Amino acid sequence: MGAARGDWLDCKNGNVISREYGSWVFLGEVLTNLELVPDAGHTQHCGSCTRCIDACPTGAIAEPFVVDADRCIAYHTIENRAEKLPDEIASNLQGWVAGCDICQDVCPWNQRFAQATDVAEFEPYPENIAPTLAELAEISDEEWNRRFTASALRRIKPEMLRRNAKAND
Ligand code: SF4
Ligand code: SF4
Repeated sequence: MGAARGDWLDCKNGNVISREYGSWVFLGEVLTNLELVPDAGHTQHCGSCTRCIDACPTGAIAEPFVVDADRCIAYHTIENRAEKLPDEIASNLQGWVAGCDICQDVCPWNQRFAQATDVAEFEPYPENIAPTLAELAEISDEEWNRRFTASALRRIKPEMLRRNAKAND
């Protein structure tokens, strides 16, 4: 990734968006004692677009730039550790078990500028690309441990993954 200074945008779906890559970027940080000149604040270039707000299946983008986590599928599938998902989330899963990219899928910044990574370590493990809901609903702790080693998806514990898959029924 190599977005230049001043190229980062603040967007209505709550994501940080790069003019060069859209919002599917890997965010990292470097700790340093170098004296650095700070970037200018984010600017916003959504204009009159409301695609993400209109497309969100649960109405989680309560107003431009404000995402209500309690209505967001991504929050509930990744962070909510309750035994059961709320009914209004479960009834809108449409196959999602780990996050939800709808507000990013519909964004013109991604449709025009998203680029596939050239970093091999960011690629998904081949075995995890198209799992079935049935297999995820029954995945054992041991199998989860083997398939999600060193994966960002490891944040979704095995009981959460089983819960999310079963909630799609
Ligand atoms: S991730 Fe999905 S549920 Fe959450 S705000 Fe975006 S479209 Fe809505
Ligand atoms: S879909 Fe439209 S309103 Fe939403 S973040 Fe992208 S440009 Fe902004």
